[in-house]
Amino acid sequence: MPELPEVEALSAFLAEQLVGREIDRVYPVAVNVLKTYDPPVTALEGRTVTAVGRRGKFLVITAGGGADELHLVIHLARAGWLRWQRKMSAEPPHPGKGPLALRVRLVDPPTTGFDLTEAGTKKGLAVSVVADPAEVPGIARLGPDPLDPAFTLAALRALLAGERRQLKGVLRDQSVLAGIGNAYSDEILHVAKMSPFKLAAKLTEPETEILHRAIGDTLRDAVERSRGLAAGELKAEKKIGLRVHGRAGQPCPVCGDTIREVSFADSALQYCPTCQTGGKPLADRRLSRLLK
Ligand SMILES: [Zn+2]
Repeated sequence: MPELPEVEALSAFLAEQLVGREIDRVYPVAVNVLKTYDPPVTALEGRTVTAVGRRGKFLVITAGGGADELHLVIHLARAGWLRWQRKMSAEPPHPGKGPLALRVRLVDPPTTGFDLTEAGTKKGLAVSVVADPAEVPGIARLGPDPLDPAFTLAALRALLAGERRQLKGVLRDQSVLAGIGNAYSDEILHVAKMSPFKLAAKLTEPETEILHRAIGDTLRDAVERSRGLAAGELKAEKKIGLRVHGRAGQPCPVCGDTIREVSFADSALQYCPTCQTGGKPLADRRLSRLLK
């Protein structure tokens, strides 16, 4: 799933391609991705893109041209992706079994635009057309953006105070911090050398400082690495840059210990026992529950 750094890079890439260009046609190929119906997606046709931005993991394409601005808000979810197309067919796409979910074609150059695709059977890709991005419930709920200068140490301290959950769950909760998901929460905790199961409220002041720095450094590094990459190159770059996430069984790049995996909520997390949990592997609670 694309997280803050990938969506940030995607937003910068799209801003270069789209700003100042007029939208010719919008084809909702898989109607189930549309989360709003009024105005219809076709209301974007004939409008000129004025800005592309990011809110958490949401991509926001703003188009003016009419009396009021409209925003095309995209959440790529687990298996959604955006493909930039330089040679699009002039014919409308046919709904079918393929991954194509929505196509946006530009007036000029005439065969360019982008496709939103989604692989697999678990559909999560979500597209909305709204007058204000805050009308999208997922955006209205977002906590502060960790790359916003307003996200200071004091801001993190306030977010963690009285927080009874474990760090792993807190970091990827979009209503606490916007944009961090399963991958970068693993990375941040590895950089901070903290157990994913540590209780957030138990962090000492020096630990809060370490975590604050780890959040900023990890995300800024990832944004830096993906800057300037085209949409098609981002997934590979994300994989290369990860230190522990998705690397169970491989050596930790810091200490050489074997990276381990443990189930967490609806998925799994990866961590280094030597760097993060005093050398002790975390108990897989799902597994131990089954054994009881
Ligand atoms: Zn390690």
